[in-house]
Amino acid sequence: MSRPSRYDPVTRGLGMTSQRARDRLVERLRAEGIRDRRVLDVIRELPRHLFIDEALASRAYEDTALPIGHGQTISQPWVVARMTEALIEHRLPRHVLEIGTGSGYQCAVLARLVEQVRTVERIDELLRNARRHFRKLGLANIRSRHDDGRLGWSDEAPFDAIIVTAAGAELEDALLAQLAPEGCLVAPVGPAGRQSLLRVRADADGWQRESLGAVSFVPLLGGTG
Ligand code: SAH
Repeated sequence: MSRPSRYDPVTRGLGMTSQRARDRLVERLRAEGIRDRRVLDVIRELPRHLFIDEALASRAYEDTALPIGHGQTISQPWVVARMTEALIEHRLPRHVLEIGTGSGYQCAVLARLVEQVRTVERIDELLRNARRHFRKLGLANIRSRHDDGRLGWSDEAPFDAIIVTAAGAELEDALLAQLAPEGCLVAPVGPAGRQSLLRVRADADGWQRESLGAVSFVPLLGGTG
């Protein structure tokens, strides 16, 4: 399928889903501390409304998480921006793994920034929807898989960066094991109400772990749905 024109009203959006709405969101993200131009430029361009049910599309450029079915949510734009910024800050990764495809929006943001993205989702219907959005946007550098993402994607490992978009009780050893030397992992960790966003970087001295602040994510669950 060919890449849609920037002038296609469906992908470009109108009214509450227009370019102006995206520009306002980017201004807000900047005011709230997002600095990386590369990330802001992708958010300015990528139609988040396409990843959301039509009934909620008018709220797509509010800085808020929204339901996507199956009790899951599309992450708040600020959170997507902050995690992406943290993941690419020290070095632009080439081969990236995302756990928790959900709507596909975070994955699409990454796909516009890096060479290859791999994403794993445990709920089949969400994954099918996300794949439709990837096709519609002509994002050909994404491969996705229906599985329990806590195990990572060993056939595709190692990864320069791994991003987890659901909160586990601990960092998953299987994911850390699939990081390349000098790789970077960003993941929310902890129980509901007490989660923090962690960044782990692998260097010659082992894992360097830092907390990037409090967040609120849906739980990382076992098995497939
Ligand atoms: N990145 C998504 C956020 C979706 S919410 C977006 O931009 O929309 C988190 C997602 O993680 C949900 O879709 C949930 O089903 C998924 N998830 C939870 N546990 C998982 C697991 N063990 N493996 C894969 N996906 C998981």
